[in-house]
Amino acid sequence: MLEQILTKHPEMEFVQLQINYLDWESEWIRSRACYEMAAKYDKPVIVMEPAKGATLAKVPAEVEQMFKAYDPSYSNASWAIRFVASLPNVMVVLSGMSSLEQMKDNLSYMENFKPLTEEEKAMCFKAAEIINSQTAIPCTACSYCTEGCPMHICIPKYFLIYNEDMREHLEEKGWTINFSNYDTLTKQFGKASDCIACGQCESVCPQHLSIIEYLKEVAAHYEH
Ligand code: SF4
Ligand code: SF4
Repeated sequence: MLEQILTKHPEMEFVQLQINYLDWESEWIRSRACYEMAAKYDKPVIVMEPAKGATLAKVPAEVEQMFKAYDPSYSNASWAIRFVASLPNVMVVLSGMSSLEQMKDNLSYMENFKPLTEEEKAMCFKAAEIINSQTAIPCTACSYCTEGCPMHICIPKYFLIYNEDMREHLEEKGWTINFSNYDTLTKQFGKASDCIACGQCESVCPQHLSIIEYLKEVAAHYEH
């Protein structure tokens, strides 16, 4: 889609994309693929969601320890912002800040900015690996399960957004964009609650996931 837009509209001056180290290889967000597409068409990128809401400011303890062991002066959020600001084709990073402290923190590393070293980038990817390993539903998005579903339920897409929401500190936010994404998906696909428990999907899932049970959790989360 992005390539179509950029081909049809060469007058486009920039592209705004959701990019962060957690979504870099995400099947759903596809930060890297979109970034590389914008670069292919020589369009500067404005980055939104560099810290994925506050998700990358409130990382699991294991990730925080790794970052602090490397350099205790850097905040968790700084790793996320510096990751995207280090990408050569990035023009602007839109970083949401809600306190003076957060602004001061941002300024501390964006003034006299130094791009991440290869070692530091590798640490961000390691952090993504750890965060992803703690996901609620370990679906690999292979989609083997969807073809034979009589209710046309987009199982991996629902699992992906559900996993995102489970990392999102919902008790503080109460709502995420995935509630809207879920509604949009249900216009094209069956809802999670449409599952008739025929078991077809579970018989082909290479991860042996309890898809029927997980879909109940997804339905309870989004359909109330
Ligand atoms: S168990 Fe539910 S999700 Fe799985 S194939 Fe049957 S209807 Fe689709
Ligand atoms: S078959 Fe299993 S791992 Fe693959 S997309 Fe479906 S639920 Fe996910």
